[in-house]
This record gives sequence, structure tokens and C-alpha cells, in this order.
Amino acid sequence: MNAEEFRRRGKEMVDFVADYLENLEQRPVFPDVQPGYLRSLIPTEAPLEPENYEEIMKDVDRVIMPGITHWHSPYFYAYFPAASSYPAILADMLSGAIGCIGFSWAASPACTELETVMLDWLGKMLQLPESFIAGTRGHGGGVIQVHNGVQTSAFQPIPFKQHPQRWFAHSRGTASEATLMSLLAARCKIVRQVQSINPEMSEPEIFIKLVAYTSEQSHSSVERAGLIGGVMMKKVPTDSTYAVTGDTLKKIVEKDKEEGLIPFYFCATLGTTASCAFDHISELGPICNEQNMWMHVDAAYAGSAFICPEFRPLLNGIEFADSFNLNPHKWLLVNFDCSAMWVKKRQDMIGAFKVEPLYLRHENQESGLVTDYRHWQIPLGRRFRSLKMWFVFRMYGLQGLQAHIRKQVSLAKEFESLVRADKRFEICADVIMGLVCFRLKGSNELNQNLLKRITKRREIHLVPCHLTGRFVLRFAICSRTTESHHIREAWKHITQLTFELLQESIQ
Ligand SMILES: *Cc1c(COP(=O)(O)O)cnc(C)c1O
Repeated sequence: MNAEEFRRRGKEMVDFVADYLENLEQRPVFPDVQPGYLRSLIPTEAPLEPENYEEIMKDVDRVIMPGITHWHSPYFYAYFPAASSYPAILADMLSGAIGCIGFSWAASPACTELETVMLDWLGKMLQLPESFIAGTRGHGGGVIQVHNGVQTSAFQPIPFKQHPQRWFAHSRGTASEATLMSLLAARCKIVRQVQSINPEMSEPEIFIKLVAYTSEQSHSSVERAGLIGGVMMKKVPTDSTYAVTGDTLKKIVEKDKEEGLIPFYFCATLGTTASCAFDHISELGPICNEQNMWMHVDAAYAGSAFICPEFRPLLNGIEFADSFNLNPHKWLLVNFDCSAMWVKKRQDMIGAFKVEPLYLRHENQESGLVTDYRHWQIPLGRRFRSLKMWFVFRMYGLQGLQAHIRKQVSLAKEFESLVRADKRFEICADVIMGLVCFRLKGSNELNQNLLKRITKRREIHLVPCHLTGRFVLRFAICSRTTESHHIREAWKHITQLTFELLQESIQ
């Protein structure tokens, strides 16, 4: 394809994308295909001779679209939202064109510097404590001063000139990666501390005593972080609102200490995946600080809502955390992937993961205006993600983003009141954000059958969760284009299927 054809096809593609998104509600939200459906539709080998573009686009309709779950359909209410907006799609196109791999400042200065500023913008929208914001303390905006020595040992602390209270902000692909990195950094830090007191203790001897904690309601990625990090991860029971309280954590930690274990990490959740519950971080934070435990705050979904002053109190206590993460790719109109992370002490991360071969070093490394984001993540390469944040933040403005959050919360409230008005149903958790957990009063089996019917009809798409042993349906407001009439139609559909289900179970 040459530039001339690209111009033509590019314009066609923009039309195709706009048509797809604008007409999405006419498609069944959930695909009707069986596992393995695709293999029989395409050749078993890549073509030897070049094919033409028209053929490929025809196959998009024939092969791909039938197997798509349409996440941006206004009838998609499963999981949590995947953000999507036109400015983000355009910015991603530009990012594809620039096509840089921004592992270091020198690998594309704009890629690194825009990221630092965008995380500051976002931090300010969230009213994070001053110490989280890179650009506010002299030193040059977003500055991280990299120590000018080669550091390969994982356990040597690295001297740093930065203000010790300055948080370090960066973006990454997913919340799961943020959780894993925080756990690995915390593990590295505790090993260093234990060895400074007991130099004879080996790493494996320490590892088997380490214990991390998280809510029994936390996302599965937290448990996986424990598995990957090779440490014990204990699930902390929750209260009647599915949140972890300070007292519960404190008791467990003290007991474990008495038994000779080393508690070192707690992952709190603000907005759990099952029911959008909020752990009490203003109680939990001081306990973690006292007990020398790293507190990571996972606010993957709900974090975006803290840009609205009415929701910001839920983030109180963040000043006690060691790291904090939210996904603009869930609820802030920035297309996947884009996850924003703040870390309190940069040397905890760099000390854990810095390795520096000659080919990745560059002259400006010690200039004091440089961040090499590769030290903060598992992959070397990173995409130019901040570009889409920049486009979205500018095209919507803080007010536009707040309006998006508020609209989705009010749609959830509207759905909640429809459910509450029907005595056959119950609401299973407080509706605080854009998620409604509900069920038919009755057995789990009844609710499973209802969900089966909903899935089979493919008019709306939901997924379930378990709350204290009960099978619950989750109705999450997802699409940017969901309106009140969609919610009402969805509820009508659910009550119709409920009617059919109850009729049949009587017979
Ligand atoms: C969605 C979600 C995650 C996982 O997010 P990824 O970015 O896909 O890894 C983690 N934690 C919570 C609370 C979530 O809602």
C-alpha cells in the first residue's frame, strides 16, 4: 500500500468506524458462534501472494464481526466499561503513525514528557495530595533525577535527589500489571529491610515468611500477583458492605506476626469488581503505615469518578498509600489500554527493577530532566499512550469528563429504582457508581436460569458475581452512548424473561 492508497483507505476506514459505532445498537450485543468458529472461515496458511484490500474488508464483515462481543453497544452491561471516544481513537491513529517505542527519554522525548504532564493533569483532576504532582515543586515539571551510576543489584538502595515526598506517576497497560509491580517492589523493600537486621537470612528464607493481604472481594489479578510474586496472599473478610475495615485487618496482621510471619503488603480496593465496594482506606492506611506494610490502592474502575467533588471523599486516606492505580481506559473515555499509577517513593521501584545495558543508556540520563519509564514496568517497550489522554482531556475538558461520570451514575440510579419498584427483585449492594447488583428473590438456580435466558437472547449482555454465597446479576452502565431509554428497554426485557421463567417454573 502506498501513501496515495493509504489516504483513500484511511478515509474509508474512518467512515467504516463511524458507521460501525453509530449503528451498533442494531447488532446483537453478544455473538452467536461456537468455539473454533473462525478457523474454518479462513485459510490455514498466510497467503504467498499479496491480496487486495477489498478482500480483507469483506472478510472483516464475514469473519470478524460475527465473532465480536460489542463492548460499545448501549446494550452492553457486562464487566465494567471499556472506555471509548472519538478523540482517543484519532490519537491512537497518530500514535500508530509515530510508532515510537518509548522506553527511555531519548527514545522519543515527547512520549516521556507528555506522559509526565498528563499524569499531573490527571492527578490534579483527582485532587491528589500535592506530593503526587510532579510539576509543582520546582525541579522542573515532572522531573525525576536519575542517579548517574549503573545499578544492577536489586537490593542496593539508589541515592536520589528528588524530594522524598514526591510521588512518581506513570501510565501502563493494565491495573493487573500495576498491582504486580507494587507487590514486587514491596517484596524487594521488605527483603532489604529484613536483611539489614538479619544479614544471615537468605532470600528464600524470608520469602516463605512473607504474607500479603487483600480483600476477599478484590480482583483476581491481586491473587495472581501473589502467585507470580511467590508470596502468600491472605484474603481478608469484609463487612456487610463488602468492604475491609481497619479492625479486621489489624487483628489478622497481629496474629500473623505473633506466629512469626512477616506481613508486608496490603492491596486495598476502591470499587470492587463484584459490587463496587470501597475499602476503608482512611482506617487501613494508618494500620499499614504502623505495621510497615506497603499499601497499594486499586481503584481501576471507580478511580475515574474521583474527578467529581461529590465522589472525592471516597479517596480520603490516599495520603497513607504507597501506590495507587486507576484505569482511564475503563471510565475516563480513553480507549484501552491506559492505566495510571502513582508510587510514593521512586527508589522503591527503581531499586527493585533497574538494569541498564549500554545500548539503552543515553547522554541525557543524568540531566535531571529525564525519566526512563522502562524502569517502572516489566516490558521494555511502551506505547505513546499519553497522546490519547491529551486529546481526550482537551476535547472533553474536566467538565465534560465529569458530565460523563455523572450521567452514567444517574443511569445506574435509574435502573436501581426500576429494580426496587418490582417486589420480585432485590438490590444486593449499595449503588454508588455505575453498577447495580440485583437478583430475583429466591434460589441461586432461579437467578442462574434467568441469566442463561438473558445471554441466549443476546439483546443485552450481563455477567454475574457471587456475594456471600448468593448468585447475583451485575448491571454495569458501560457504553458512552447508553441513554435512559436503553435502560428502560433493558429492564423491560429482563422482566419479560422473568415472567416467562416464572410461568414455566409453575408449570
Ligand atoms: C478491571 C479491574 C482490574 C483489572 O484491570 P486490568 O487493567 O484489565 O488489569 C483490577 N482491579 C479492579 C478493581 C478492576 O475493576
